Amino acid sequence: MKHFARYILIMISLHFTPGSQAQTVNEPQNNSADWSKPYEPFRIAGNLYYVGTYDLASYLVVTEKGNILINTGLANSRQQIKKNIERLGFKYRDIKILLTNQAHYDHLGAMAAIKKETGAQFWVDAGDTAEVRSGGATDYELSFAGVSFAPIMQDKILKNGDSIQLGNTTLTMLHHPGHTKGSCSYMLDVKDNNRSWKVLIANIPTIIISRKFAEVTDYPAIKEDVSYSLTTMKDLQFDIWVAAHASQFGLHKKRKPGDPYNPAVFADRKGYNQALENVWKVYKEK
Ligand SMILES: [Zn+2]
Repeated sequence: MKHFARYILIMISLHFTPGSQAQTVNEPQNNSADWSKPYEPFRIAGNLYYVGTYDLASYLVVTEKGNILINTGLANSRQQIKKNIERLGFKYRDIKILLTNQAHYDHLGAMAAIKKETGAQFWVDAGDTAEVRSGGATDYELSFAGVSFAPIMQDKILKNGDSIQLGNTTLTMLHHPGHTKGSCSYMLDVKDNNRSWKVLIANIPTIIISRKFAEVTDYPAIKEDVSYSLTTMKDLQFDIWVAAHASQFGLHKKRKPGDPYNPAVFADRKGYNQALENVWKVYKEK
């Protein structure tokens, strides 16, 4: 019955997404070299690890019931993420739940392939369901690129405040739209031998439109969404924070390859406030 329901869902989505059956993926090619450059995986805090590339952050939450992977980079990030997970001593196939900060090709490029290889479930913020199913072709800004990542069928739709629980760890999804319609952050508590850490995996609501807000007719709520996210995010309380791009939270200023375990380097409220402030500046221009 469960399979039957999924089959129906796929058929409906094909029907409303013309050509999705035979579509080719055209991943944009003029990307920053830092997106594809390898980076050593490391333990951020407790059972949270960095397994992404030099700039495209991917996070692994390790539990006794399997693991959660957040963000999958470009299509060519798959091998790096897999290698990074194994280098830390974990099993790639132990991924049970896949999440993303946002439905863009630089975070979902390898998602469909990783989902297929691991059999993990993909859970997504309600606002991004059309974009993940169309491979970005329905995106209000990046649709010019057509299908920019392999389309993904979600297994579960998440709403603001929903819990994602696996083993001893619970993540809370926070709806922070504006960059995409279903951009979101995750909050979780992790523990090491010394203490517990409240961690925010943030989606900074950067504004990528070349137009003014008023001209974005395919996402009329964009202005309100960015303003809502910036305001809400300003009030969040946490011990340490990271983000979808390493450059957004200054990973390479805070940590050098080979550095020992030290979650405290990511306790940077000032940098977080500044990142939000930078978006406010662009907001006012738009
Ligand atoms: Zn993006």
